[in-house]
Amino acid sequence: MRFVHAHAKNGGAAEGGIINLLGLTRSRLETFFAELGEKPFRVSQVMRWIYHEGVVDFQAMTNLSKAFRARLAEIAEIRLPELVLDQPSSDGTRKWVLRMSCGNSIETVFIPDGDRGTLCVSSQVGCTLNCTFCSTATQGFNRNLTSAEIIGQVLFAARALGLPRNRGDRLITNVVMMGMGEPLMNFDNVVDAMDLMMEDLAFGISRRRVTLSTAGVVPGIDRLREVSGVSLAVSLHAPNDALRDQLVPLNKKYPIAPLLAACRRYIKDAPHGRITFEYVMLDGINDHEEHARELLSLLRSVPSKVNLIPFNPFPGTRWRRSSDKAIDRFRGILQAGGLTTMTRKTRGDDIAAACGQLVGEVNDRTRRQEKHRHALEIQIAGTSL
Ligand code: SAH
Repeated sequence: MRFVHAHAKNGGAAEGGIINLLGLTRSRLETFFAELGEKPFRVSQVMRWIYHEGVVDFQAMTNLSKAFRARLAEIAEIRLPELVLDQPSSDGTRKWVLRMSCGNSIETVFIPDGDRGTLCVSSQVGCTLNCTFCSTATQGFNRNLTSAEIIGQVLFAARALGLPRNRGDRLITNVVMMGMGEPLMNFDNVVDAMDLMMEDLAFGISRRRVTLSTAGVVPGIDRLREVSGVSLAVSLHAPNDALRDQLVPLNKKYPIAPLLAACRRYIKDAPHGRITFEYVMLDGINDHEEHARELLSLLRSVPSKVNLIPFNPFPGTRWRRSSDKAIDRFRGILQAGGLTTMTRKTRGDDIAAACGQLVGEVNDRTRRQEKHRHALEIQIAGTSL
């Protein structure tokens, strides 16, 4: 079974010789079906069953021949993540904790807001980047999610929200790769999953409404420009390298100047013709008027929009959220300088579903958790930023 091995390599979709059709892009599925000797139109039939109807049982795919259904049942499956916990928030936000194979779990969050429904999707079990203000960082890192596990979060949510009768998929108007993990560190699987988000035979969401958020993996931004045209958000959080080095350690590898240069290259074909910069508001750390002015002059060279994110606390953190007054003042300076700036509403914080609060259950393979705790103790004991 040559194809099983080929696909297993491309994102780990196969397990025990059975291939998970979830997560295979349209062209991968075309190759797979061609190898089975099936006609190309079978691809659109099967994809519609999976992504439009939410059907995961081949026997229920009634427009396929009985023989083909039986063959598929033998060699393939449509395996969704398993639900561990379904948590609704008082503000309508809903968080699902989903178990991945190998016992780890990750988190997916649905945020309804008027006509818009945004699904916040995870890309890794844990994260390697160690941003000091993010609770996912305290979990350490286990592994990349497969494309099946990434698109599986979208299908899971669509089904949970009422697909097919109530068109749960239509309730999801936007997807943001802003859950656990750094999406550009899991490039191929994230790109395949985003392909399916945009593919008409799957979720058909426009590239303007699919956003990848990165802490600033410069080569990844350039690769993304070549293969995908999604909206880009960059977690900036500081207007100079000295401060950013401390908040986002990845900055030591990819400092602000090369990061903004990559953003300018990306913008040429970017949806909306601009980049969104995220800036977490940390009390007394990066929220001074001087920081706002510095940010303003930094972003003059990049068509951009700034999202200020009030810091969301989590157990054990040493940071505090900036006051509303400080946030308003900061926003005022940027807006007066002509920069489109908004303050992100904090949603789902009563269920720890807000930005930076997603932890899941990560079986850390880097042993960083221990090191991180140790580092934190040292910092709390003496130094401050
Ligand atoms: N690794 C990617 C995506 C995950 S984080 C990235 O860094 O962009 C999604 C957003 O939430 C990022 O902008 C991140 O910096 C922000 N964030 C992380 N922890 C936060 C916290 N405790 N409070 C508010 N925002 C946070």
